[in-house]
Amino acid sequence: MSSPTMPDQLADGYNRFVSQRLDEQKQLYRELGQGQSPHTMVISCADSRVDPATIFGAGPGELFVIRNVANIVPAPEAYGEDPDAPLAGTAAALEFAVDHLRVSRIVVMGHAKCGGVAAALGRAQSEAGGEAGAEDASYISRWVGVMAEDASKAVADNPSMQQDGLQQCLEHLNVGSSIERMRGFTFIQRAMEEGRLTLHGAWFSIASAELFWMQDDGEFLSVEA
Ligand SMILES: [Zn+2]
Repeated sequence: MSSPTMPDQLADGYNRFVSQRLDEQKQLYRELGQGQSPHTMVISCADSRVDPATIFGAGPGELFVIRNVANIVPAPEAYGEDPDAPLAGTAAALEFAVDHLRVSRIVVMGHAKCGGVAAALGRAQSEAGGEAGAEDASYISRWVGVMAEDASKAVADNPSMQQDGLQQCLEHLNVGSSIERMRGFTFIQRAMEEGRLTLHGAWFSIASAELFWMQDDGEFLSVEA
């Protein structure tokens, strides 16, 4: 099979999908064609190394996934009533998952060496060092600005920590804060009060392909496979 317009890398992958998977899963896809009922929503980074379906061994129809830079959930106030406010893609996906698909849980999954976290950390370190924050209107800068408070906290609380440690510290804080901000949405509060939704945090190490699960005290512990 070949297509004159489809890039080879993608066409080759699709050919593998058709030859290796579709036969086994034809029935599953036939059923999924009628509708979806995913059990879990995952909010993950767009990073190519952190695929929720791969990490959780999930097939089609199991996970409702939103991926953005640095797995950030902005607070409800970020959207507000202002018609000029940014389009609320993450909030819309949350609302759809909770109120319409009625997922049982939401997992915010951070990861090691996150570029979005590194950007927020770098800015906080420049500001802590007395450098004027450069005027930066890039989309990335504005988006990771949601992390600014956590980034400043990570820098201020750990003056002698190496860069890798600070980065991991902020990756962990950012997962916890995304969960806290999620609690501000009324549809999430309602679902939790009804006992049909739980919120969780996780962090993936990449190099060791190991998952860590956030505990009630904010610590991340390795998941024994
Ligand atoms: Zn990332």
